[in-house]
Amino acid sequence: MSAADRAAAHTPLTTGVAGGAPALPPPAAGFRWTAESWGPMLRCVPLEAIAQHGFTSRQLALRPGESGTDRWAMAAASVGCAAPRLARVRQVHGAEVRVVRRDNLDAPAPDADAVITATPGLAVTVVAADCVPILIADPATGAVAAIHAGWRGTCARVAGATVAALTREFAVDPARLVAAIGPSIGACCYDVGDDLLRAFDEAGHSSIERAAWFSRDAAGRLRLDLWRANADQLVHAGLAPDAVHVCGLCTRTHVGVLSRIARKATGPAAWPPSSPRPERHAASFR
Ligand SMILES: [Zn+2]
Repeated sequence: MSAADRAAAHTPLTTGVAGGAPALPPPAAGFRWTAESWGPMLRCVPLEAIAQHGFTSRQLALRPGESGTDRWAMAAASVGCAAPRLARVRQVHGAEVRVVRRDNLDAPAPDADAVITATPGLAVTVVAADCVPILIADPATGAVAAIHAGWRGTCARVAGATVAALTREFAVDPARLVAAIGPSIGACCYDVGDDLLRAFDEAGHSSIERAAWFSRDAAGRLRLDLWRANADQLVHAGLAPDAVHVCGLCTRTHVGVLSRIARKATGPAAWPPSSPRPERHAASFR
């Protein structure tokens, strides 16, 4: 199936109105909304050619601690996978990466903030509130990754750790990876204290990086741009700048569509090799 056919298989949603729900905010170029049974899902067009994936919206109302519910089944179905094949982690705002293979899928979810696999039929997921969900796929090996990056994970370089794990475990070439940075808190809304600036300094992020990621608004409030920080870290890890796609949707600005109390998961999944559909997937559930 061609990328165009796969794209056509998902019903596109125009931004503006989704039933009686709040208007869907238009994402940056390279992203589109699709209509799922449970509500609107955001997908990254360049990533669709490699992996079935998506970022869910608040309508799905997933809860991180639960599993085996209809909601999780619907979330999994939206990325072409069965819920028992969603590999998850116990997110702790660190930089550990879980490597999932067929024989360890059912192990208790370890403490980690990224999940990677190259096994067809499996899906990797993360759950986040305002933290940054990142999906990565490799067109050459089919390896996929899901990353949860809040400020602590970003400070700890979880995105770079994930690319390093993909390279070590699956011999991917970072220069070929495609990444999508999903809905999360934008610099428009992320007021932070000077303690975060110090934390990034102490973690060894350069003054040039800190100047690019932190800014002060007219009122003197410090803002942190986690999208820029994670995009920069992915490029530093070897990704091509034009292969890092940022949807540009802020979960605080678009609370009605994107935000709720219990949150989203992000993950790539994979199809069985016999399937005519793509073998790898990525999704972000909310
Ligand atoms: Zn905002």
